[in-house]
Amino acid sequence: MNTTRTAVVTGAARGIGAAVAKRLAADGLSVAVIDLDEEACKPVVEEIEAAGGRALAVGVDVADEPGVQGAVDRIARELGAPTVLVNNAGITRDNLLFKMTADDWDAVMNVHLRGSFLMTRAVQGHMTEAGWGRIVNLSSTSALGNRGQANYSAAKAGIQGLTKTLAIELGRFGVTANAIAPGFIETEMTAETARRIGMTFDEFKAAAAMQIPVARTGRPEDIAHAVSFFAGEGAGFVSGQVLYVAGGPQD
Ligand code: NAP
Repeated sequence: MNTTRTAVVTGAARGIGAAVAKRLAADGLSVAVIDLDEEACKPVVEEIEAAGGRALAVGVDVADEPGVQGAVDRIARELGAPTVLVNNAGITRDNLLFKMTADDWDAVMNVHLRGSFLMTRAVQGHMTEAGWGRIVNLSSTSALGNRGQANYSAAKAGIQGLTKTLAIELGRFGVTANAIAPGFIETEMTAETARRIGMTFDEFKAAAAMQIPVARTGRPEDIAHAVSFFAGEGAGFVSGQVLYVAGGPQD
């Protein structure tokens, strides 16, 4: 347990981000719970506090440059200098290429790539100053290519390149950077995909589980467990890696 470190988790009002925030708090870190809507972050903060942890709700769009800087300054002031960053905020705007609008492309690039870049740039000074840091970026199995996701798969492959470069640039300051590439995880994001293709979520999960070697779909806690490993004190020699957490191997 280490009660002195502060973590920042983006897109943490629900889904994978909320599970990651709760897990890192249980690991003993103070956690900034970032999402677009500050009010929406409060139930996660309250849950962490009820369990004896320390957390702060912060509303910001990760693609908003001045907003991100202001949010990180506030976190450093109110919670402590952040030395763990989990870039998790994400959106999908799925469509086949010929129907995909430039706005769908830009929206996905902005949240995943611009957002991860801005957040990392704003936080890295605290990490290099501390001589210690952990960056964990959320990629996806879609980085390997996925029908209807030209924008999302490109962004998630981009996250892998960003991660490897961060590992190379920041390693000498005691900072590691790794990516987690989840397969099918039960969240609002996959529930929305089920709605879009006209299946119930249970049907969609059952169909997905048939293709997954461990014969089930993933849960947010499965990803939180992997984040906890990368963020831990003992993982300082693991950097620039992409860990597929998908219930089976991925190419
Ligand atoms: P989710 O349930 O949709 O949660 C994503 C959260 O991010 C939402 O609370 C959303 O807020 C927030 N967000 C969106 N845009 C933001 C922005 N610009 N600034 C700040 N917050 C923003 O998604 P999830 O399934 O937990 O996914 C989390 C991450 O894992 C994403 O990066 C996703 O691409 C990745 N992932 C998910 C799966 C999966 O199967 N679920 C698989 C592979 C990778 P609003 O609700 O206000 O939009």
